[in-house]
Formats: sequence, structure tokens, C-alpha cells
Amino acid sequence: MIMPMIKNHEKLRCMATGMEIDDDGLVFHNRAIEEPSLLRTIYLNKKLNINHHPGLYQYSDWLPIRRILQGSSLPSTYRSTKLASYLGLSKLHITFNGYWKERNADMTTGTFKECEAYTVCSRFPWELGKTLVVASAGNTARAYMKVCSENQLPLVLVVPNKLLTRLWSTTRVNHCVKVISADGDCDYSDAIKLSDLISTMDGFQNSGGTRNVAKRDGLGVTVLSAISMMGEIPDYYYQAIGSGAGAIAAYEANLRLVESGDYRYKMMKLHLSQNIPFTPIADAWKQRIRTVDIEEEHAKYQIGKICAKVLSNRNPPYGLAGGLYDALTKSEGNVFSVTNREIKEACALFEKLEGCDILPESGAAVAALIKNINSGSVAKQSSILLNITGGGYKNIKGDFGINRIKPDVSIGRQQFATDLMYKKIQALIEKE
Ligand SMILES: *Cc1c(COP(=O)(O)O)cnc(C)c1O
Repeated sequence: MIMPMIKNHEKLRCMATGMEIDDDGLVFHNRAIEEPSLLRTIYLNKKLNINHHPGLYQYSDWLPIRRILQGSSLPSTYRSTKLASYLGLSKLHITFNGYWKERNADMTTGTFKECEAYTVCSRFPWELGKTLVVASAGNTARAYMKVCSENQLPLVLVVPNKLLTRLWSTTRVNHCVKVISADGDCDYSDAIKLSDLISTMDGFQNSGGTRNVAKRDGLGVTVLSAISMMGEIPDYYYQAIGSGAGAIAAYEANLRLVESGDYRYKMMKLHLSQNIPFTPIADAWKQRIRTVDIEEEHAKYQIGKICAKVLSNRNPPYGLAGGLYDALTKSEGNVFSVTNREIKEACALFEKLEGCDILPESGAAVAALIKNINSGSVAKQSSILLNITGGGYKNIKGDFGINRIKPDVSIGRQQFATDLMYKKIQALIEKE
């Protein structure tokens, strides 16, 4: 475990009040105010110096971290020729997150959640002796499992039983990682509830989700590395959204690059996508309202009907200060809705032309791009950055093989917050 201490920031800014708050590695919101608001890291270096640290940590100047961990990698950005010429685009860059050796993409868990997981674990104050608790429906779990297993950091993952098939690893998982199955018909929201309960116990700490600056600044590395490679800020940024954390991060990365003075001022338009019928953010943005009411529209927003399952966050950081509504407003962005069929066609087209399989979530971004080009709403000579947030599963399976992960303990909904639950969790840790 290599862990040199890094000191590149001290304060975080509250996006509602402008107040500056000391970063203790754990603060997720401004405790001085009632209303929810995001914090944003204030870096000591206003210019981005790309350094010689391994992987993701080349961008450590703008990561709110204290330590460098092993095993990270960067997305790979390249200028597309085949998809670009098929669509008639003169300047399409693809930033690929996943595993694709020919393009030097080495994320063996397959998605940009690796950028998040490394950064969050590099910020976390492990010296307090706490176990990190993360709830996930798949991609996030695999990413945290890799970081913590390879760096021997204590982690509890909470995964809904019916999504356990999405939990796999290319390597043996270290015993410092424990997996809890939220049993029966528990869904992702139940897993979150369970992880919140566990986090109230002594010795456990949740990751804070989008409110954790490390999550967003880690995801933002995709944009930092892509724009560094392109040498300019693009006109449009395409990405599929679940929570919108990645898109807020892209906006924040753009803002920092502009403020560094190293790029001509431009805010790339965030062109985001959701999978029909789960389109609460697209619907709210269309009406330019700050609230997404997912419970009210329950009958419409059916997660079971979408193929890009990850794009189904029920509590997105949308309306709060510094959230997605603000990023869309300031970047003059837009949110598009795409069907399962459009996603499948986009995935097939990408694989045929560019030569690598991509996840349906990435296909949702490609599908929105295709729609915009075909309708003429985006000019073909625009500079476009397409974020492939996950891909290369076939390569991973081929090169490494996939080991399924079994849960260490199962907890049904009727056991939530009971003595039995607390005993089971405690026993899990005490076995060590
Ligand atoms: C998580 C995820 C997304 C959506 O990211 P958000 O930050 O939740 O909006 C998109 N694609 C893939 C592959 C993901 O894992």
C-alpha cells in the first residue's frame, strides 16, 4: 500500500452560501444551513499540472485527496474516424472508460465508476479506523471492490440480492471487503436504506454519494484528461445520466479549466440522456422546474422497463444549489430521452464501427448524439466529446474471465433495524 500524503487543498465552498468549510475528509454538506447544497473543492493550484503519479493521480492537483492508491487507470480519449464519418461529423472525440487494450483503456471493472472509487478512497480518513459502507446496483460496487481489495481497505458493500449477478471480479477479492445481500425482493432503494442503517453503527461510515466532492472530482478526470488531449474545450458533451453526478463533475471540470486561463473561455453544452420511460430529469428540465417528483409519477417511471438499468436514480442531486439544474442552466445544456431500441441500435453501431462493445448506458449517450445529428439540432462541424462511460465487457471476459462474488451475509427487509441485523453486521467485522 503506497500512501504518500498529499496536500493540494484545504477548503470546500458551499454552493448555496459561498461559505468556505475546512475539509476533514468526511464533510458532505454545510452543517451551518438547513437547505441541501453541494460543496465544491477549492484547489491551491489554479493551473492544472499533469504530473508523473500513476494512473488517475496524474490529475492529483485537482483531486481532493490525501493519499495515492494502487491500480488506477485513466480513460482513453481518441478522435473518432469511423463513427464520425458515418454521422458526417468533422470533430468527434470519444473518451472511453472501460477495458480496451488497443486503446490503452485499462479499467478492468468496466466503467468510469473507477475514477470515483479511487478518488473517494484517497480522500477517506482511514486512520480513524472506520469501515466504508457503499450501496450499489453493480458498477459502483465492482469499482469500490477493486480499489479496497487491492489496497487492503475495509469496505462493506450492500447489493440487492436480485442484482448480485452484476457483482463480479477479475481477481480474488481480499477478505477486507464484505458483501451484504439485501434479500428477497429488495431493490436498490432498499440497499441504500440498509447501508444508511449500517452507517449509523460505530465504526462504519457511508460514502456520501454525489455530495462527496471526491466522487465528483474523480468522475471529472474523464473531462480533464479528454480536454487536455484535445487541446480545446468542445462545443458539446454527451453523457447518459443516472444521478447526474458525472455531468455536474464535467461542468465543474470545465469551469476549473476555464478559470486556469489555459483555455479560451467556453462552457461546453451538457447534452445528457435518459432511458424511456425512466426520464424524470428530462421531464423536469423540459419544463425548467427544479423539482423531480419520482414518487408522484410512479406509474410512468418504471425501472423494470429500461435496458440501461444504471440510469435509474430515484433521488438525483438535481434542484439543490450547485446541482444538475444549475449546471444545465449555466452550460445551456439539454436532456434527451431515448428508447431501448435506439440504445440497442446505438450499441451495435458503435461496436461495428469503432470495434468495441459498450454498455447500454453508453449506448444511451450515443443514441442521443445520433438523434441530434439526424434532426439537425447540432451542427456537423461542431466539436463534440462523447463520454463512453462503460465498455469492453467482452474484452474483460476474454482476457481475465469473470468470478462471481457470493455475499458474506444476507439481510431481509423485515430484519432492517432489528437487533439481529446489528448482530450480523457486528459479527462480520469481528471475525477479522
Ligand atoms: C453510473 C453510470 C452512469 C451515470 O452516471 P451518474 O453520475 O450517476 O449520472 C452512466 N454510465 C455508466 C456506465 C455508469 O456506471
